[in-house]
Amino acid sequence: MAKWVTHKCNSCDYSFVGSGKPDALMMGPTIPVVCSGCNIIYDRITQSYTGADLDMFCEDCESKEFTSWDYKSKKCPQCKDGIIGESGEGMVILAD
Ligand SMILES: [Zn+2]
Ligand SMILES: [Zn+2]
Repeated sequence: MAKWVTHKCNSCDYSFVGSGKPDALMMGPTIPVVCSGCNIIYDRITQSYTGADLDMFCEDCESKEFTSWDYKSKKCPQCKDGIIGESGEGMVILAD
């Protein structure tokens, strides 16, 4: 079970709901990645516990290209100087 919370950039109005760090869902471990197509952050399952092939893609633009998001420096992928932080308000989802 992972806790997904709203993350917000402090410089632009970009926000996303996700774990924001390496985590695990029922389907397998996840890492936060940045879509190379539309520069959004999403939690990507890195491998399946069952060994099944994961054919994941961005739900927004259907790109399969991605880079891992540097969740330690928390740089915003949408603007230059923004830092992403957890927002106290908004959505908390318990994902599994
Ligand atoms: Zn930003
Ligand atoms: Zn995308």
